[in-house]
Amino acid sequence: MDYMIRAIDKKKTFRIFMVKSTNTVETARIHHNTTPTASAALGRALTAGLMMGYMMKNENDKLTININGGGPLGTILVVSDNRGNVKGYVDNPNVDLELKANGKLDVGGAVGINGKITVLMDIGMKEPYGGSTDLVTGEIGEDIAMYYWKSEQQQSAVALGVLVDRDYHIKSAGGFIVQPMPFMEEEDLTKLENSLGKISSVSDYFDNDEDIEDIVKKIFCDFEIEVTDKIPVGFKCDCSEERMEQALISLGKKELQQIIEEDEKIETVCHFCNRKYLFEGEKLQNILNTCGTSGDGPF
Ligand code: ZN
Repeated sequence: MDYMIRAIDKKKTFRIFMVKSTNTVETARIHHNTTPTASAALGRALTAGLMMGYMMKNENDKLTININGGGPLGTILVVSDNRGNVKGYVDNPNVDLELKANGKLDVGGAVGINGKITVLMDIGMKEPYGGSTDLVTGEIGEDIAMYYWKSEQQQSAVALGVLVDRDYHIKSAGGFIVQPMPFMEEEDLTKLENSLGKISSVSDYFDNDEDIEDIVKKIFCDFEIEVTDKIPVGFKCDCSEERMEQALISLGKKELQQIIEEDEKIETVCHFCNRKYLFEGEKLQNILNTCGTSGDGPF
């Protein structure tokens, strides 16, 4: 089972979010039939989305991450909340690149660096707030760290890892975000940087049955770490026939009638989970009638 923790050092000078997301990323892979490179890119973004969503205060808050670096993958879009739910997709899930010289999946090459990462938080205000920063490496972890620095002046270390098996299954996925408080002493900050510097591959930590409570204590062994919260997480899409109906209704009667004249049925697909919804016959007629009575078509 995937889950996520929130932790803090005893001196309360830095906070940690850590998540094991193997099943979450595997579910995304199955929904989107992603290649290893696309699995790693989408998986890293989903893993980050879970933790960034967890930082929000209220259960109706929503966080959206949009990454587009002009690379072959196109846009990666991830939506999460503070309860461990995440969904997401990548424009071109069939893009696969050669491994890099160090044997790792070329996420940076697939994402590209000619573009931005945009993070929006909808916390029930009139407009969502957030920010947009230029991509640094397209490897996603460093890009998110830069986003926090540029838009919130918050120092962060973001480590994200996805290991893909030879048969394309997700072998392991997980990550963490560490954020020091502004008052953290120089000596402790150096100690923290040293702990982070020892990590060569974050996904190795999640590639066994070890509890993340133990992983966090292992990585930050120079500090006394206290786990303060823990929640289950997973890939969850909230699409439904009602939502799809609403989307069709908003097209307007004229547009709908045109589609029906050509095809007599309408099939819609949810971008996030690839679930298909078919509207025909009486169901479709009802949607058309709703369009007529509400009169909110474009004409
Ligand atoms: Zn869906």
